[in-house]
Amino acid sequence: PRLPYDENNVFAKILRGEIPSKKVYEDDFAFAFHDINPQAPVHVLVIPKAAYVSWDDFTLKASDAEIAGFTRAVGRVTRELELDQPGYRLMVNMGGHGHQEVPHLHVHIFGGRQFRVMIG
Ligand code: 5GP
Repeated sequence: PRLPYDENNVFAKILRGEIPSKKVYEDDFAFAFHDINPQAPVHVLVIPKAAYVSWDDFTLKASDAEIAGFTRAVGRVTRELELDQPGYRLMVNMGGHGHQEVPHLHVHIFGGRQFRVMIG
């Protein structure tokens, strides 16, 4: 069964401005901010503004405009951070096996160093 969206998850609070964050980018569909516990010199999270727990949830319920807007936002953030030329890594964790800690869909952007192992 699909998990219901928890309105009190930490990223929902960030979107409502109840918890501060270091904003990188914002538009109608997406909000991007620095991870509080960075795992690379650049570690930014991009989240949809609407309430989705997982990729499954997002792709089932979001409009085409939201999916396009969110996907483009990730690209805009990588360009603004000048990561495209050196390269970077995207990661999305889902559920227990994916080790998802915050139940609001988020894309991790990692950059600023060379990555080696593909998965941990
Ligand atoms: P997950 O394991 O769910 O894919 O990643 C959750 C990420 O959210 C972790 O990298 C964690 O450091 C980050 N995070 C958790 N709480 C906060 C917070 O309050 N502010 C920010 N900026 N990042 C957070």
